Amino acid sequence: MKYIGAHVSISGGVENAFQNAESIGAKSFAMFTRNQRQWVSKPLTDKNITKFKKNCTKGGYDSKHILPHDSYLINLGHPEKESLKKSRIAFLDEMQRCEQLGLRYLNFHPGSHLNKIDPGYCLERIAESINLVLEQTKGITAVIENTAGQGTNMGFRFEHLARIIENVRDKTRIGVCLDTCHTYSAGYDIKTVKGFENTLQEFDNLVGIKYLKAMHLNDSKKPFGSRVDRHESIGKGSLGIEPFKLIMNDKRFDYIPMVLETPDQSIWKKEIRLLYSLIK
Ligand SMILES: [Zn+2]
Ligand SMILES: [Zn+2]
Repeated sequence: MKYIGAHVSISGGVENAFQNAESIGAKSFAMFTRNQRQWVSKPLTDKNITKFKKNCTKGGYDSKHILPHDSYLINLGHPEKESLKKSRIAFLDEMQRCEQLGLRYLNFHPGSHLNKIDPGYCLERIAESINLVLEQTKGITAVIENTAGQGTNMGFRFEHLARIIENVRDKTRIGVCLDTCHTYSAGYDIKTVKGFENTLQEFDNLVGIKYLKAMHLNDSKKPFGSRVDRHESIGKGSLGIEPFKLIMNDKRFDYIPMVLETPDQSIWKKEIRLLYSLIK
């Protein structure tokens, strides 16, 4: 059973996410829990929380199929003390919002070394940030997303993800989200059957498939190994439709949220239908 959805808008309040998901035929969805471009946001009101929970139940969405994403401003591996502190505070706030909403995941990009610290040290910092926040919250799993490796972003090699997880103390509350665009841009050739299988094998060997909690389904505007993060609509980019056929027919991706972050929202409904039509 596959749970395909998209990253939907929370305009007007978090409680509106579910209608937006339902209107495109999504069986899962991603969302922000606050304005992702600001450091500080208004706390969620009791009304927001009650409505959100009620709407999700009404729409038949289980918390295991909802994948909140944190703010892009947060850098959990920031080289500078003050900025690191700011990021950790904001990340804790995001986790607490998820807790309040009864969610179970928080998806985030690991962080960047900004050419100011050793990449290995940056990974340790990221793990320590996760530890600090997990200790102060309950029930939420931190879901690290692999990146395209643009600029000084960490997390583009499976080794990076493995190193972070290794240093996280509570292994029951850490997971990974693989983004197809990022994976391919980072230099994992998932375009062919053999390349796809090798990539998953490598992921299992280094990280462990049991940590795979979610997927982002995106095609890529940029070529293989470009290390540039530019999403494209499914089947219209350098990845093409083949890898999505493989994913839709692979049991390893059953029951987890698989979310579109493709640029043309007006065709999300079509893209979701297209993906389901690939099941043999
Ligand atoms: Zn993504
Ligand atoms: Zn991306």
